[in-house]
Amino acid sequence: MSDCIFCKIASEEIPSKKVYEDEQCYAFYDLDPQAPTHFLVIPKAHIASALDINEGNSMIVGHCFAVIAKVAKERGFDSYRVVSNCGEQAGQSVFHLHFHVLAGRDMTWPPG
Ligand code: 5GP
Ligand code: ZN
Repeated sequence: MSDCIFCKIASEEIPSKKVYEDEQCYAFYDLDPQAPTHFLVIPKAHIASALDINEGNSMIVGHCFAVIAKVAKERGFDSYRVVSNCGEQAGQSVFHLHFHVLAGRDMTWPPG
């Protein structure tokens, strides 16, 4: 999508600190980290939010989680949190599906 900031990051039109890339997904460090390690994993295809996941595109979600586990193992962390804010009330500010991966500190539950 032409006016989507995360589509532009995935195509490297906008620079980011890349963590991982393959044909289907792109991972990069969050600009405003909320943990010692905080990166985002996104599908390269534009999907606005978790609300737009369906039988036709859900393979990408499994793939994103496989990438998250691979990167986590490579970096030596075995405890991390994956978050996807869906919709404004839940705190979503960029409407291109993304999974926050947070690691490196103690975390509380429930989230605020
Ligand atoms: P959301 O609020 O939608 O759950 O998460 C969006 C995240 O994207 C935020 O944590 C924000 O810091 C991050 N973000 C927004 N714009 C950019 C950007 O241009 N580059 C990077 N690396 N992160 C961004
Ligand atoms: Zn997009």
